[in-house]
Amino acid sequence: MALIVHKYGGTSMGSTERIRSVAQRVAKWVRAGHQLVVVPSAMSGETNRLLGLAKELMPASVSAESQRELDAIAATGEQVSVGLLALALQSQGVPAVSYAGWQVPIATDSAFTKARIESIDDTRVRADLAAGKVVIITGFQGIDEDSNVTTLGRGGSDTSAVAVAAAMKADECLIYTDVDGVYTTDPRIVPEARRLSTVSFEEMLEMASLGSKVLQIRSVEFAGKYRVPLRVLSSFTPWDIPVEEECRSGTLITFEEDEKMEQAVVSGIAFNRDEAKITVMGVPDKPGIAYQILGPVADANIDIDVIIQNVSHDGKTDFSFTVHRNDYARTLELLKATVLPATGAAQVMGDPKICKVSIVGIGMRSHVGVASKMFRTLSEEGINIQMITTSEIKTSVVIDEKYMELAVRALHKAFDLDQEAAAA
Ligand code: ADP
Ligand code: ASP
Ligand code: MG
Repeated sequence: MALIVHKYGGTSMGSTERIRSVAQRVAKWVRAGHQLVVVPSAMSGETNRLLGLAKELMPASVSAESQRELDAIAATGEQVSVGLLALALQSQGVPAVSYAGWQVPIATDSAFTKARIESIDDTRVRADLAAGKVVIITGFQGIDEDSNVTTLGRGGSDTSAVAVAAAMKADECLIYTDVDGVYTTDPRIVPEARRLSTVSFEEMLEMASLGSKVLQIRSVEFAGKYRVPLRVLSSFTPWDIPVEEECRSGTLITFEEDEKMEQAVVSGIAFNRDEAKITVMGVPDKPGIAYQILGPVADANIDIDVIIQNVSHDGKTDFSFTVHRNDYARTLELLKATVLPATGAAQVMGDPKICKVSIVGIGMRSHVGVASKMFRTLSEEGINIQMITTSEIKTSVVIDEKYMELAVRALHKAFDLDQEAAAA
């Protein structure tokens, strides 16, 4: 008997029919002799609908008080889906009980809309499992030390599932979604994208952080920190395929680098449309200027991603960086109010219509010329690169948003990711 955590995403839980199919699949695992904890998302579209309602009524300037309410509202989506799944399981004759995050409890910090899980008390869950029940826990949410409901950021149910698996030392965490694994890039953008049967933890971490929404980045961080055996697979296969077959399907996140030795240099391409670019023009080029510009931004709790500083002319330089698009207007306002007067910069400009495209692969460590091939491919397509950033296993470029799909397709082809050898 193994302890298994299943996570089902929004599309997998998208209708009562889909929830019935999830219940049938879970019941199959129970009949195979396993203990099951299931972490579902809200039904697809539900979180957007709830946040849409909230936005119609909330004040223009977002305060911590309004964010608290946003979390309380958004968290209800998952509270409905856990109850529905419990009923569907009970209808199959499988004892099941559902809990909201606060009932477990899953303790988080108080960063509303992007809270971090701090601890999980599994006493209640273990007692239910011992009593032969399937335990269903809401994804995406927890409770802070003042008993406020918090949410973990969009896509956060992945993180809930992996955190529960880590806390309970589960034998496996299976992330069921609407694709049958992790692909060389988003198959919605490149139909020729190929499923990877394994992907290294490091590559998955980069792909998630660079925009591949198949797994929320924090879920990958948890999996790495606690070595949670993690697999991404489809909930759209027939529910009654044998458990052993399901265990081999999808994509396994591996922790051993050696398994990847024979692999392609570039394993995947990620893209992110959620960023915006800010440029401070004509700043005096002197020590401390980066801190003078970015210090107030960081103090306002705004995450900064790619940064470049241009060559200076006549003691002045231009300084550009990217932030999340949700923080774009706030960052512009902040810089105009504080940095312009403090530094004597000429002006602050912004462009929200950019995107970041990245190539990822641990093989890049040992191969030269990968970045230059990326730049050549983009230049052959006439795509101008605005910013570049690299690490050991990735190269990212910031380009005009309108070229995103073209860039991803061209790079996918240039690095032969559509060829058989690219997959593990
Ligand atoms: P869920 O609701 O199950 O959490 P998500 O929509 O969050 O599902 O994530 C699955 C989606 O991620 C897929 O439908 C796919 O379009 C997208 N995706 C982006 N990059 C990749 C990738 N490299 N491999 C697979 N899917 C990807
Ligand atoms: N329902 C939440 C969202 O839509 C969390 C999740 O689906 O993972 O972001
Ligand atoms: Mg998701």
